[in-house]
Amino acid sequence: MMDKQANMPSRETLAALPLLAGAAPEILDWLARHCSVSDAPAGTLLLSPEQTNDRAFVVLEGRLEVHLANQAPEAHTWLEAGSCVGEMSIIEGTYPSATVVTASDCRLLAIEGEVLWSLINRSHAVARNLLYTLSARVRQDNRVIEQSLQQQRQFEKSAQTDALTGLWNRRWLDEMLPRMADRCVMNNQPLSLLILDIDHFKSYNDTHGHLAGDRALQTVAATLSDRIRPTDVAARYGGEEFVVIMPDTARDGARIIAERLCIAIREQPIVRADESPLPAVTVSIGLGTLTDERSAEQLFEAADAALYRAKNAGRNQVAA
Ligand code: GH3
Ligand code: MG
Ligand code: MG
Repeated sequence: MMDKQANMPSRETLAALPLLAGAAPEILDWLARHCSVSDAPAGTLLLSPEQTNDRAFVVLEGRLEVHLANQAPEAHTWLEAGSCVGEMSIIEGTYPSATVVTASDCRLLAIEGEVLWSLINRSHAVARNLLYTLSARVRQDNRVIEQSLQQQRQFEKSAQTDALTGLWNRRWLDEMLPRMADRCVMNNQPLSLLILDIDHFKSYNDTHGHLAGDRALQTVAATLSDRIRPTDVAARYGGEEFVVIMPDTARDGARIIAERLCIAIREQPIVRADESPLPAVTVSIGLGTLTDERSAEQLFEAADAALYRAKNAGRNQVAA
């Protein structure tokens, strides 16, 4: 814990602190007699959400590390000389909201809770300085919350999208298809599903190279995205297989859309990154439609079986 060898701060030391900016000399002299300076080696625990706290610490030299949760492996933020910690738990009379540890050897000014209150009552300047400190802290915390929410959204999104095509990935599909299917069954609405598989794609790769294959995958994905309605969704299921989910679409309507997609893909030019042309690809498409007695799993199996039939019938076509 803290080095017990306490000593009295000088008036100059106190006058230089943001917390005491503008405080009258007699306030500084009074405080000097009622607080103490001590040294704390790096790694000293100053505040913890598990321990009641009745002291505020002002950093005179060194640096503190603040962790929002006890377990947080990386530091939430650092506080430099002049910063104050512990005042929030004194003001609210409750446990500290964060864990605070000395990040380096530190020289600290410790102010007991009672003394801090007395200081607030005696000096408008100190009260105002504390308001600034707290306001800056709220603003900083809001920034951190916003950043971590953004990061979380980014992580969630990248875990569910396919890096090559930007479409939803299989993970997303596995999670969302049952939900979409349940909702349609509950609302007594149809739902159709297409599985699209690029024809002879292995030989396309073998002939034109893997990079050309990637361009073909991106082109097919873009064609799907461009052609489907806003309520439909396209996903890359795996290698050269795609899925289109069409809520509120019955078999006949879905079949027309599937035929159009099949044509659009075979007619869509593919180019390399340097704009040099590549042959178009064709797809085989299997269609499944959800009716009351079918689950998402059965729907998928039906579309897969239809795809198999489309392949066997000569590829470059739709089967239902
Ligand atoms: P079929 O008409 O029966 O579907 O034949 P196919 O050659 O398309 O089917 P197969 O399953 O034999 O081959 C799929 C190919 O897709 C093999 C694999 O190299 C290629 N592939 C899978 N993922 C990617 C990818 O991310 N990029 C590229 N360029 N090729 C991929
Ligand atoms: Mg395949
Ligand atoms: Mg294929």
